[in-house]
Amino acid sequence: MATDYYGVLGLSRGASDAEIKKAYRRLARDLHPDVNPDPEAKERFQEVSRAYQALTDPEKRRIVDLGGDPFDNGAAAGAGGPFAGAGFGGLGDIMDAFFGGGAATRGPRSRVRAGGDALIRLDLDLDETVFGTTRDITVDTAVLCDACTGAGTAPGTHATTCATCSGRGEVQSVQRSFLGQVVATRPCPTCAGTGQVIPEPCPKCGGDGRVRARRTIPVKVPAGVEDGMRIRLTGHGEVGPGGGPAGDLYVEIAERPHAVFTRDGEDLHCRVTLPMTAAALGTTLTLETLNGEEEIDIRPGTQPGSVLTLRAKGAPRLRATGRGNLVVHVEVETPTRLDAEQEKLLRELAALRGEDRPAAAGAEGHGGLFSRLFK
Ligand SMILES: [Zn+2]
Ligand SMILES: [Zn+2]
Repeated sequence: MATDYYGVLGLSRGASDAEIKKAYRRLARDLHPDVNPDPEAKERFQEVSRAYQALTDPEKRRIVDLGGDPFDNGAAAGAGGPFAGAGFGGLGDIMDAFFGGGAATRGPRSRVRAGGDALIRLDLDLDETVFGTTRDITVDTAVLCDACTGAGTAPGTHATTCATCSGRGEVQSVQRSFLGQVVATRPCPTCAGTGQVIPEPCPKCGGDGRVRARRTIPVKVPAGVEDGMRIRLTGHGEVGPGGGPAGDLYVEIAERPHAVFTRDGEDLHCRVTLPMTAAALGTTLTLETLNGEEEIDIRPGTQPGSVLTLRAKGAPRLRATGRGNLVVHVEVETPTRLDAEQEKLLRELAALRGEDRPAAAGAEGHGGLFSRLFK
């Protein structure tokens, strides 16, 4: 189960960067170990820092928004590595958070960046989600450019040091203000902060190091998946700029409605309609289940709305053994068109059972309204 990183900061999904920063600052002021010696506060501060880290890094935030956890399985072993308590929450970070220093540029940033995650929907029938299946899915995504293997340069050429920033990736400008001279640093506009330029871009990818391509990937769907669940295919997302490591591909299961069965987690539900006589006399029904035909014993005197539970005939449990149940809801149909013979028989039956002038059950409490209606 992925951590609710928005919730940790007291925010809802779609919070702006400014709101995230503000929430973190407010919490950090109370919880930072330098301020608050309480061990519980320390733990909470780590949680809050982790959430802040997850939501301020665009790649990590994307994973969070896809329902994943960027710190799961070392998936986010990017800059700084997975949060390890001491790694984050140092003075630099807290100062940044307090004073809005933001992401100070520290040398050129890499042209090679991790690729984004991708999400694709897979429509499946009930028997496929219940029993599992393997399906080929076709994805149109960024893959490594095979002409330059990600370098982005034309054959026989190389990237060169950016002349504007001399490879530093940032440029400085001096501004006068009432405080005196202020040196402002910003990413180099020529090389987009990478410190390198490609004089002759690869003709196939235009220098990006990746191209779009259609791929077919087999997806193994485990038995018992449910509508809305996501299967993660690690490394099958987009390749990053400059041939950076690929993101993950999430396959979201969409279960098509079934004509007979509805699903409630591991249980399957269906309805059968019985003639009044069968409900009264009892019968045996043959029900076409996902596992083939199943005999159902209807006991004499079965009431409308009765529920029969066939144990372990539902969907398998995804992360455990065993199966859910098949729940059969019984409806009883009252005959509507009686011919003369049938009507006569029913009237005789009613008279025999003393039901030709029925007294409604529970009528006494209602001032005799029901008994009056039957006179
Ligand atoms: Zn430059
Ligand atoms: Zn290329």
